[in-house]
Amino acid sequence: MTKCFYCRNQAVTFRPYSGEYLCKSCFLKSVERKVQRTINKYSLLEETDIVAVAVSGGKDSLTLLTILNKLERHFHETKLIAVTIDEGIKNYREESLKFAESVASKLKIPHKVYSFKKLFGYDFDEVISILREHGLDESSPCSYCGILRRAALNIAAKDVGATKLATAHNLDDEAQTVIMNFLRADYIRALRTGPRLEKIHAGFIPRVKPLIEIPEREIILYAYFSNLPLHTQTCPYAQDAFRNDVRAFLNKMELTRPEVKYNILRINDRLRSVYTCLERELDLNTCIVCGEPTAQELCKKCELLKILDEIRAGTRKT
Ligand code: SF4
Ligand code: ZN
Ligand code: ZN
Repeated sequence: MTKCFYCRNQAVTFRPYSGEYLCKSCFLKSVERKVQRTINKYSLLEETDIVAVAVSGGKDSLTLLTILNKLERHFHETKLIAVTIDEGIKNYREESLKFAESVASKLKIPHKVYSFKKLFGYDFDEVISILREHGLDESSPCSYCGILRRAALNIAAKDVGATKLATAHNLDDEAQTVIMNFLRADYIRALRTGPRLEKIHAGFIPRVKPLIEIPEREIILYAYFSNLPLHTQTCPYAQDAFRNDVRAFLNKMELTRPEVKYNILRINDRLRSVYTCLERELDLNTCIVCGEPTAQELCKKCELLKILDEIRAGTRKT
């Protein structure tokens, strides 16, 4: 029997990047301590923050809500509010919405749901079917979904009076995003990737990623040991080929170099800190239609909605 590195009970998992064997209880505590260290290291949360936690109902976001709820006990004034975005994707979102609702209610955390339909006038199913019908689906569905979801989360965070928006990006997500930005030569986006995105515009709620140093595999294990419900439905649009390639590449690299994903995070931290011109480069405008932050005159969400509205009204020129 392999023993836990800390308490000598039976180990249930092994961390290849640190060489630690851990029992269930030490593993859970160590993940929570790690999240606390990330929060402290990057000053992600203040005691007086009102934190909107983006909870899709998947394993990452339920783990985030559970851990922040535990840590919050040490920060009595921090207030958590769970916000869920319902994209309107049939046979996919229903189950996770139920999970988000039930976990938030079990933890006694207020929970609000915002739908694409109510916010923007379209379900995501409608968005994709209109774009496909008119041959306008140039990017992957996930890119359009991301544009609308980012906008929806900012609206939701403002609506609940939040001072921070916490999202459940994990180490794997972040390492993939960093590499994808480099491979696209998108340095502005690369500089925006990180554990916290500052208030870059008056209408922008700063975003923080407390799980950024937790590998995906450990989140699955944390969710399992904590008896969190497991979302089994797969999104019918999930086909981000670029991300899938990068994910497969990094997972393969990790087999022989277990610390590789952490190294990507560190190098991105270093690069961000040496770009002193960052603030000027990242200055944002205000969208002339909705008032949300944008790099152009019109934000990407309004650009997309303009196309959909014109198609619906029959006024779109081809
Ligand atoms: Fe949206 Fe893509 Fe996620 Fe589906 S897989 S919910 S389309 S981001
Ligand atoms: Zn132990
Ligand atoms: Zn806009």
